[in-house]
Amino acid sequence: MICPRCSFNILGNQQVCPRCHLPAPLGGTRVAPPTIQEPRHKLILAAGIGAIVTGVCLLGASGAALLGIIALVCGVTTLSVSKFGKVWDNLTPGKKALAIPGVIAGIAGGAVVYIMMQAILIAFKMQFPQD
Ligand SMILES: [Zn+2]
Repeated sequence: MICPRCSFNILGNQQVCPRCHLPAPLGGTRVAPPTIQEPRHKLILAAGIGAIVTGVCLLGASGAALLGIIALVCGVTTLSVSKFGKVWDNLTPGKKALAIPGVIAGIAGGAVVYIMMQAILIAFKMQFPQD
């Protein structure tokens, strides 16, 4: 550890700083713990990609281009801030706040796509009844 008074590097087994005689356990600054590798946050990754896909789809729809650009930007921000879902727990609240719109856009976009697919499926079944 480093002596807080004189910045001398105190060895672990020494109780007193050899240079300024400050008792080491009382004021030593601890070395920051190593950052633990987080498990990949699949929801964040999926939501980020979902927001980008949603954005691209909206860009093609008339009247929704602006919404598409917003979703696209949010998705790209989410992926870049979270490093494709690799970091989330260790993010600062500010960075999390930056990434959350993309997560929401991705989940909302995914839900809309799911509902639309179900609706198309139902419409298709109604159009072409099996029996
Ligand atoms: Zn010292």
